[in-house]
Amino acid sequence: MTFDQFDLHGKVAIITGCNTGLGQGIAVGLAEAGADIAGVYRSDPGETKKQVESLGRRFVGIKADLSSIEPVNDIVMQTVDAFSKADILINNAGIIRRCEALEFSEKDWDKVLNVNLKVLFFLSQAVARQYVEQGTGGKIINIASMLSYQGGILISSYTASKSGVLGLTRTLANEWAKHNINVNAIAPGYMITNNTEPLRKDKQRYESITARIPAGRWGKPEDLKGPAVFLASDASSYVQGFTIAVDGGWLAR
Ligand code: NAD
Repeated sequence: MTFDQFDLHGKVAIITGCNTGLGQGIAVGLAEAGADIAGVYRSDPGETKKQVESLGRRFVGIKADLSSIEPVNDIVMQTVDAFSKADILINNAGIIRRCEALEFSEKDWDKVLNVNLKVLFFLSQAVARQYVEQGTGGKIINIASMLSYQGGILISSYTASKSGVLGLTRTLANEWAKHNINVNAIAPGYMITNNTEPLRKDKQRYESITARIPAGRWGKPEDLKGPAVFLASDASSYVQGFTIAVDGGWLAR
């Protein structure tokens, strides 16, 4: 084995939610390994574009609201127009709503399930159709969560969506492995991003969570670079349907 297996030069990666947080960290990590980036964004992706281009890689921004499946075919078309193909999809965009289950609204249920699960499925379908048409196969990496494994509190729709992502990762891998498509997921632990800002502002929760993480610290977007490059590269060609925790040991505890 050589480390060339991790090389992504000549590969094109579509990343949703590329403008900030974990999506930005993954975009920069894949670019460091050589990939060009089709960055799907809702808010200005200027900082991600700057970092990707400073590595000598191309960045093409695709503006899309992923609260419905309406833009999914266009995302694939714009990627293929710009780069002639797609090789990697990172389904990273996601939202969370916090509320007691007794009070949880249908609106917040639907919003979270739409972005985190429904659009993730239909974008995967659109990209997988492109992989099949290209005859190349490709990679799909879903961003799951600790809430793919645990219940959590105050986040019913988020836990339902992320548990769904774990199951979907398995079933899509089962169906698409024969097309040379690898479908896997990364389950980040507690990471320092906008998503966890309210948790980190609650001093007591912040300290009790930190004390339970064997690594003794919260994760950073950069912590996902290595696992994402592995799953996006030839090095993982026989890894199928698995959700890898990147959590500083949280689940092992
Ligand atoms: P974040 O809030 O910084 O990023 C979320 C991204 O999703 C943003 O780029 C946002 O623009 C995009 N997005 C949300 N709704 C969208 C929509 N309707 N259309 C287009 N884009 C939309 O938070 P993050 O922590 O970087 O989250 C990234 C992913 O990681 C999410 O799926 C989240 O659930 C998951 N995750 C985060 C943590 C954590 O501790 N931060 C842990 C586990 C999983």
